[in-house]
Amino acid sequence: PAFTAGQFVGDDLWVSVLDGGPRQYVDLDTAATSSASVAVAEAVQEFLPWYASVHRGAGIRSQITSARYEEARDIMVRFVGADPATHLALFPRNTTEALNLLAYRLRLTKGDVVATTAVEHHANLLPWARHARLRTVQVDERGTFDVAAVEAALDEYPRPKVLAVSGGSNVTGWLPDLRAIGAAARQRGVLVVVDGAQLVPHRPVDITALNVDVIAFSGHKMYAPFGAGALVAPRHLFATGEPFLVGGGAVQAVSFDDVVWADGPDREDAGSPNVLGVVALTASADELRSDGWSSVLAHEEHLVRGLDSELASVPGLHRLGPVTGDRLPVAAFNLEGVPHGLLAARLANEYAIGTRSGCFCAHPYMGRLLGLSEAEVDQFHADVRAGRRHRLPGAVRVSANRQTYLTDIPLLGQAL
Ligand code: PMP
Repeated sequence: PAFTAGQFVGDDLWVSVLDGGPRQYVDLDTAATSSASVAVAEAVQEFLPWYASVHRGAGIRSQITSARYEEARDIMVRFVGADPATHLALFPRNTTEALNLLAYRLRLTKGDVVATTAVEHHANLLPWARHARLRTVQVDERGTFDVAAVEAALDEYPRPKVLAVSGGSNVTGWLPDLRAIGAAARQRGVLVVVDGAQLVPHRPVDITALNVDVIAFSGHKMYAPFGAGALVAPRHLFATGEPFLVGGGAVQAVSFDDVVWADGPDREDAGSPNVLGVVALTASADELRSDGWSSVLAHEEHLVRGLDSELASVPGLHRLGPVTGDRLPVAAFNLEGVPHGLLAARLANEYAIGTRSGCFCAHPYMGRLLGLSEAEVDQFHADVRAGRRHRLPGAVRVSANRQTYLTDIPLLGQAL
């Protein structure tokens, strides 16, 4: 093991590093998973004695739990600026499950086109590729695209049924112009699905104002624990058809040769749901809303500027993606002469700085950012398939959030 001991002192984790320590652990991997906030932990703690089965029991605890679960749907719908009269919230495990569920439920065929972008996380590529043909909006060398490129993809024949687009990149922190993209798609009658995994923890989101239809996000990236995410979508998308998961709770009547599905969100809720996860998710949404976004935005703006200036001052460091404009506190880079995996390991083991290295579940995007040719990508695939190579070229990623101390950023600069 890299360290022999780790201990919390108050909220701060201290660990022993390779040649000494202890050092205070610096978590610069919050884009992967964030720590639960105090308000979230308290809400879960408070609800622990109460929880019982959802929609399956007559007892008082079951009644309270069921009410809490249903109320959570409206909280999450409103949290992203939608109206519970027209939209519903489902609680899949995470963004990945949300997008798989949706791609299945839209009943696409291989003749349908889904427009997506080269920025996407695999979670917003593979579920669509499974059910439809992809048309990809390409990125420039900075790893960005403009609205005109999206419009071109929407205007190509045949018209895509869906535009699946990132709300914010988990690699570069770049924020596509959702408002303009939403307007272009709305004009053309194309359903817009936003991967909000990175956006929702960092920005207030109003899908009505943005003109987008659906958003998916994960609790574990927004200060709640694993196991509950949200899919907020127009109700009519789920009015007919078979649910993604089938089983108890999703039905009104079952015989050996027939089934009458339940209406509304219940149809998508086969199996006992994760109520504690949903309690955590709503507590986080309430906290983000009631704390007001201005302090979060101001703090994160400082983090972005801090990261920019620290990384700019390191000799031999190459950033991937745009370094100007409005971005999330996320940055990917390479240091000349140091393999990315080794650099991340040294940051962790010598400096107690947690980062992530690799391709961040966004291989096509990383290929573009690293300037790989199609032939090189094909060669990597052939090598990986044949077991000749296990690691793709990649980068180190650092990410921060409202829980990150501003003073952590210079520590990264010193370590690099
Ligand atoms: N989309 C983006 C942009 C992400 O950053 C992630 C998580 N890395 C996902 C989707 C998938 O989220 P989850 O693993 O919670 O399903």
